[in-house]
Amino acid sequence: VTAIDPRPRWSKTHDGWRLEGARCTSCGHVTVEAAAWCARCYGAVESGSFGPDGAVWAATVVRIPLPGREPPYALAYVDLDDGPRLLAHVMGSAAPRAGTRVRLAGPSAAGDPQVEVLP
Ligand SMILES: [Zn+2]
Repeated sequence: VTAIDPRPRWSKTHDGWRLEGARCTSCGHVTVEAAAWCARCYGAVESGSFGPDGAVWAATVVRIPLPGREPPYALAYVDLDDGPRLLAHVMGSAAPRAGTRVRLAGPSAAGDPQVEVLP
């Protein structure tokens, strides 16, 4: 039995990190999860590549220790430009305000998406 790795797939281009995913050819729904068909309308999907920039939709600081995570650390939902919303770790320990521009910073050691706040 082969387990499907649910973590997003990364690529790196001249302008930075991107996440690989899929875009529905019918309704335009986008995802960074592996998809054989559209989760919204069951339409056909084509491969898509999203990033490197996006905007924070919401963020919080986590103060509960978890294995491999030293609190406090910040998590944000990020709307990638022309891409999906994803949950990401924020470099540093402060929660950016909604609307803050961020850039993908590659996967963490655990494979989770990371973003850095743009100056
Ligand atoms: Zn669709």
